[in-house]
Amino acid sequence: MKPQPTTAGRRLARAIAGGLLALALGPAHGQQPLDVTASFSILGDFVQQVGGERVKVRSLVGADEDAHAFQPRPSDAREIGSAALVVVNGLGFDDWMSRLARSGGYKGTIVVASDGVVTLEMADDHGHDHDHGHKHSHGHKHGSKAIDPHAWQDVGNARQYVANIAAALTAADPAGADTYRANAERYDGELRALDAELRAAFEAIPAERRKVVTSHDAFAYFGRAYGVRFLSPVGVSNNAEPTAKGVARLIRQLKAENIPAVFIENVVDARLIERIRAESGARMGGTLYSDALSGAGGPAASYVQMMRSNLQALQDALRETP
Ligand SMILES: [Zn+2]
Repeated sequence: MKPQPTTAGRRLARAIAGGLLALALGPAHGQQPLDVTASFSILGDFVQQVGGERVKVRSLVGADEDAHAFQPRPSDAREIGSAALVVVNGLGFDDWMSRLARSGGYKGTIVVASDGVVTLEMADDHGHDHDHGHKHSHGHKHGSKAIDPHAWQDVGNARQYVANIAAALTAADPAGADTYRANAERYDGELRALDAELRAAFEAIPAERRKVVTSHDAFAYFGRAYGVRFLSPVGVSNNAEPTAKGVARLIRQLKAENIPAVFIENVVDARLIERIRAESGARMGGTLYSDALSGAGGPAASYVQMMRSNLQALQDALRETP
């Protein structure tokens, strides 16, 4: 008669086999997904793209919501407190998020997704007064110059965000390393193709037509990457108040430079842009997605869709009218 393994020995063997199985199959088979909280919807999409089924992502500032004016609820602090990983944009865009995480008792790493991007300083000629005493105005100050936080609007920067997020997920969940690497590589390929598509599309539009007006200065990175000039009645924070003088100057500039179109943004009240359009005679180019994705059924439900939707709207408005 063969010697039987002890009960304890069998239990151990079963536990090891079960553990290996869980590692091989991933979280769909019993393992809890990694709880990640991102400050806003665009970051949330990046985390989802890289994390796939291994993560459960929550974006505090949701679709079509304005991160500049976000007012956290007490329940937000409690929920961040229990997150496995917290991801922020940085560059002064979402400083409230780090404070909220700490006050909610979050002890882990706060991943700054924009780490390593080539930043832009805010331009000085917004036509609004630079009174940054406003409660929610933002922009990370370096000496007297502030850094523009909207770095994700350059797809080259988005690739850096994704690399940072992949590294952070791997550090937080080493068992998922292969999944995160494979997802990040696939997604990076998509972003590379998107970047090339945007470059080619704007090169095909005459340089003197590549200028538009938007609600707030969210597109300087897009402008630098793809050769489009963006003007706006307010600065990088859409909570800043435009001055009457600044608005009048912008309308004069629209007429003098034959700027073809003005755009509203999904996160900003459209009334001021509508007034500027009416007084300048420029065309209404439609909606650009700046600081938030659209809802699931909308035209910008993911970052890639958002950039394509913006490209389409800009192309339609800037193309020479026959
Ligand atoms: Zn903004």
